[in-house]
Amino acid sequence: MPLADRSWFRLTWPLAVAAVGIAVGFALSVGLDGYFVFLAVSAVTAAIAILGLGVVTGSAGMIALCQLTFAAIGAWIVAGLSYIQAPGGFVLWLLVGGLGAGFAGVLVGLPALRLRGVNLAVVTLGFAAAADVTFVQIQFPGSADGTPVDRPSMFQSDRSYFFFTIIVLALCALLVFWLQRGRWGASWKAVAFSERGTASVGQSVAGAKLTAFAVSAALGGISGGLIAGQVQLPFASSFTPLQSLALYVLAIMSGAYLIDMAIFGGFLWVLVPELLKRWGVPQDWAFVVFGILGVQALTSGTNLGQGLRNLWYRRQRTAPPPIVDVADVAPSGPQITTTTVATLDPAEATGGPVLVVEGLTVQFGALKALDDVSLEVPAGSIMGLIGPNGAGKSTFVDAISGFLPRHGGRVLVAGQDLAGMSPTRRARHGLRRTFQQDRVPPSLTVGAYVRFVARRRVDREDVEKTLAFFGCPPAATRLASVDIGTRRLVEVAANVLARPKLLVLDEPAAGLSHEEHLALAMRIRELPERFGISVVIIEHDLDLVRSVCPRLTVLDFGRVLASGPQAEVLENPAVIKAYMGETELL
Ligand code: ADP
Ligand code: MG
Repeated sequence: MPLADRSWFRLTWPLAVAAVGIAVGFALSVGLDGYFVFLAVSAVTAAIAILGLGVVTGSAGMIALCQLTFAAIGAWIVAGLSYIQAPGGFVLWLLVGGLGAGFAGVLVGLPALRLRGVNLAVVTLGFAAAADVTFVQIQFPGSADGTPVDRPSMFQSDRSYFFFTIIVLALCALLVFWLQRGRWGASWKAVAFSERGTASVGQSVAGAKLTAFAVSAALGGISGGLIAGQVQLPFASSFTPLQSLALYVLAIMSGAYLIDMAIFGGFLWVLVPELLKRWGVPQDWAFVVFGILGVQALTSGTNLGQGLRNLWYRRQRTAPPPIVDVADVAPSGPQITTTTVATLDPAEATGGPVLVVEGLTVQFGALKALDDVSLEVPAGSIMGLIGPNGAGKSTFVDAISGFLPRHGGRVLVAGQDLAGMSPTRRARHGLRRTFQQDRVPPSLTVGAYVRFVARRRVDREDVEKTLAFFGCPPAATRLASVDIGTRRLVEVAANVLARPKLLVLDEPAAGLSHEEHLALAMRIRELPERFGISVVIIEHDLDLVRSVCPRLTVLDFGRVLASGPQAEVLENPAVIKAYMGETELL
């Protein structure tokens, strides 16, 4: 299919699904019995609230146990605006309710910048409990004198109001769908996997967490606003912390970051209590049922939605994965083999240094991991950073990229002193680094990840070419389905696409086969000329170091043994003695 057609399809299929959903909703609103119409509205409002949980918990990985408190805030605002007959009507009130709840979400999200896991759970549950007490005290507007909330003028009857909620659900689902596919969605999934990895690509960790909380709470608020219109006299008892907990469990077990599963979760939310009622069991036992299902989901490590998806992917994966032939995209320059010796490029001397490190010192308790390290990397150059395990190479990368702010000494990139700059700002300033451990969020596709890391507009061709250049799988591949070596190749490709001034690679070839390792080294050799990127690479294979790096720095016990052009460094007696165990090098 031609490219243009595909992107047209990509844009329109969610719209088509939403339109079908609205049509089904309309048919239901006409066909359903009165009692079921009421239940159906409850399912729809629950689905919208669960969509929100899918963002904050499912995608961003934070535990938020106060979703119905956000709903209560939305309901309170809608009831209040209706009570004073504010201009604009229900739809506008609903939006204001969503915004108000979204704002509250940001406030609740602030502790999430410091807290994680159980601690965050306690804070959000505490907020829910405090809000519950408050709502019982202050009551919902109109409840004292029994003034009902106005519904939208076109949707007064229960049936038509149900249809209205369906339209709102469809719009919310579309919003979440597009947000999940965009920058925000990528940042949520990245922050869930690794905060360091997120910061290292120039994405603010606080920004990712707070947008997740805001969007999630806003959806909660819209859900609550719709409940206000449904019951018309909302009460605090519809939004208790216990119900928030149950909703959270339901979101976990259904896999609410998947939009269809969030809607399915809303369906379960009303189905289980209804079935219990019919069987003569008190409805509160629904919480127990949700609890058991939640425990099952948490212990098995997979949820309903993901389970179903996995079945589908397994069927798809019967075809062998594409083997990327490196010859197809071989670098244009002269062939490099392990016997080639990288020489200094005369052009490199003309620019100023891209990296200057002066007296860098890092102390871990009694251990001096880096001791007065000074070195320079000229623009357009590749420097190999070598040294035995524990020499301080990764510590060096962490320190210059901003993850060890309490170091001594100075770091300058392209002439700017980085003192006081966060990892995020350093990344935006043009210093990118990769990690020795895996920091590539598996919940993204290769393409989504690469675009997220690039942080600039890249067209599809650019992405495809860069991926092919590094021998990465195609953009549509899910990162969860490729091996660790391949994930790290994608990490390198993505950071190259970001066009940093300096790219620091911490053992990028770990996990690759010997051939892949060679191929990667050949490509890294081309980065300065092809993309204007200077490189610092940590690498153990000395043959490769020799063929790729015109400059070398040798670290040992946190000190620089030698630094400079390759030939000088490798002939340095201190290097030969300490690092090489006095064996002949050349
Ligand atoms: P390399 O990457 O060269 O193998 P590292 O930089 O990872 O070495 O480690 C250098 C030294 O610092 C090692 O002795 C390591 O145990 C120590 N080290 C690294 N990170 C920490 C840390 N966060 N806390 C304490 N010691 C650390
Ligand atoms: Mg290391």
